[in-house]
Amino acid sequence: MSNIERTIFCNGCGVEITWSPIIQGERRYCCQDCLHGRGCTCATRQDLDDDRPNLAHSAPSPQTGFP
Ligand SMILES: [Zn+2]
Ligand SMILES: [Zn+2]
Repeated sequence: MSNIERTIFCNGCGVEITWSPIIQGERRYCCQDCLHGRGCTCATRQDLDDDRPNLAHSAPSPQTGFP
């Protein structure tokens, strides 16, 4: 019960921030670019970071047989 971190989402692009966010008042930003309202690539980078083989992710759900 030591990991009580809450998920933080960027107020700019909405990416899930799994690193130290930039805090500006009550807002949280993923990076300086978002802080200044510029487009950033954090979401893409996070996606690329997770490119290990994950076959279970594309497995068909057993609940797809609903009428
Ligand atoms: Zn952002
Ligand atoms: Zn960013």
